[in-house]
This record gives sequence, structure tokens and C-alpha cells, in this order.
Amino acid sequence: SKNQGRNAYHFFTEGMNAGVKRRLMLEEKMHGAISRDEFSLHYQPVIEVNTGNIIGAEALLRWKNPSLGQVSPEEFIPIAEQTGLIVPIGYYVLNEALKATSTWIVKYRGPFNIAVNLSPLQFKDPKLINTVKRLLDQYNLSGNSLSLEITEGVLLGSKHYIRQAFADIQSMGIKISMDDFGKGYSSLNYLRQHTFNTLKIDRSFMQDFERDKTAPALINATIAMAHALDVEVIAEGVETQAQIDYLTENSCDYAQGYLFSKPLPHAEFEQLLCLDEFS
Ligand code: C2E
Ligand code: CA
Ligand code: CA
Ligand code: CA
Repeated sequence: SKNQGRNAYHFFTEGMNAGVKRRLMLEEKMHGAISRDEFSLHYQPVIEVNTGNIIGAEALLRWKNPSLGQVSPEEFIPIAEQTGLIVPIGYYVLNEALKATSTWIVKYRGPFNIAVNLSPLQFKDPKLINTVKRLLDQYNLSGNSLSLEITEGVLLGSKHYIRQAFADIQSMGIKISMDDFGKGYSSLNYLRQHTFNTLKIDRSFMQDFERDKTAPALINATIAMAHALDVEVIAEGVETQAQIDYLTENSCDYAQGYLFSKPLPHAEFEQLLCLDEFS
């Protein structure tokens, strides 16, 4: 009826307003959030499938604001990207992650690789490569202690620029990982155009693992293809024993997921590293 139509319209615009308001609020609170020390990093261990050893971690950004509480990165990172705030926030992440890595390497064990997510805007920042170089120097780390994880969004744009940036990054020994592999439309094409060191199988493949015969077949085929290209494979979102058994049988190199550990705050991750309880 006419009435229902009007109500539906009313509801729709109110819904939009709430979304717009929330977005503006997040944007406003995000300004100055670095200097107010509202960001922190959590670390999720990356496990070598063969040995069960922790060989590194992925750094994952967390934001806690006094009035907003904990805000999910799925919500605030797109806004940070749209406003350009991701560039300074991204440098905060790189600095924190490399600082932590330098202490973990000295205190506990030999090689340790920290993976940091890079957004498209950060990748295009002309200061990126020199800043990474300076931070590695400052913390006395070699390039192979760092992996930069990028998604398809980074790979839009000039092929020439991207190739040059990849070459500059990889010449320092830093690894480049293709994140969320198989989630987008052009993963295979990008694998053909650029030289990656690591590929991370998107966690949706693990989610479908038990329900769906296609997912295990695609996981297996992805591992075989990556190895043929001399690219290492990380499976993300590993939650069950059946999944890790399958990954072991099919020679997956590394795994990450709740089966081993959730992303942990600095101090808790450090404890886990001491115990190294997966091997
Ligand atoms: P991502 O790079 O794909 O990171 C993995 C996400 O999967 C993390 O979500 C992690 O907590 C979650 N996860 C890990 N193990 C499991 C599991 O076993 N099961 C399930 N269901 N999920 C698992 P998180 O921390 O909420 O981060 C979400 C996304 O936000 C990240 O996805 C990444 O795209 C982005 N992000 C996080 N930190 C940063 C950052 O410092 N910079 C940039 N540019 N993006 C970031
Ligand atoms: Ca990632
Ligand atoms: Ca991912
Ligand atoms: Ca061990």
C-alpha cells in the first residue's frame, strides 16, 4: 500500500543517515587517535606446517576509542583508506611491528618473520620504500624479517610502477605476499604479472572446507600451482584438525588460524613465543 511504501522510504533514509553519521563520527575520532595512543597491534602466530614451529606472526591493527569502544578493522580501515589517514596509521603499524620483532629476535629465537598489511594508498606513497629501509636500519633487522601483505586493490594501476616497487622491495630481501588469494577476480592474472614470494589462501576456502568438495580440491591445486612457481603458501583461517591434516598431506608450507591461536596482544604473544607450544 501507499502507507507501507512511505514507511519503507522513511526507514531507508533514516538507515542511511545512521550510516553516514557513524562514518563521520569514526572519521572525526580517528584524527589524533595515533597521538592519543588509541591504536595497538595484535599478533597472530604463523605456524610451519611440517614442524609446528612458530616462524613469525601477522600484525593486526586494533583501535580502542574512549567513547566508541573497540572498533573493528573491517569497519575503520576502509574509512582510513578513503580519508588518507591510513598512511600515517600504516607507518605506526610498521614502526610498532618492526620494533617488537627486533626484541623478539634478540630475546627468544633465530629467524622470525613479521607480516604487515599494506593498503593501496600506502603502497602508492613515494616515501614507503625509504621509510621501510630506515626502520629496518633503526631496529637492526634484515629485510627477510619482514613480509608485506597486499590485496588485489594494490595491483590496480600502472603495471610499470608496481613492478618497480616490487623490485625495490624485494631487493631488500623483504617478501611480498598476495593476501586473500582466490577471493577476488584476478588473482591468477596478478600471479602471472608480478613476482610474489608468498600466497595466502583466502580464509573463505577454509570456511567451505567441510561443507564443500570444491574447496579442498581448490586448496590442493593452489598449493601445487604456487610451488610450481616457486611461491610459498600460507593457509589462513585454519580452525579444525581436519583442515590442518589436509594441509599437511598436501604440502602447504604455513598455516594461521584459531586452531593455533587468535591474534594476541603484545605481551601474550611474547609468552606464547616463549612456550612455543605447537611443536
Ligand atoms: P586479513 O589481512 O585477511 O587478516 C586476517 C583476519 O582473519 C584477521 O581479522 C584475523 O583476526 C582473522 N582470523 C585469523 N584467524 C582466523 C580464523 O581461524 N577464523 C576466522 N574466521 N578469522 C580468523 P581482523 O584482525 O579483524 O582484520 C581484518 C582485516 O583488516 C584484515 O584482514 C586486513 O585486511 C585489515 N587489517 C588489519 N590490520 C591492518 C593493518 O595494519 N593495515 C591494513 N592496511 N589493513 C589491516
Ligand atoms: Ca593479511
Ligand atoms: Ca587475508
Ligand atoms: Ca620449537
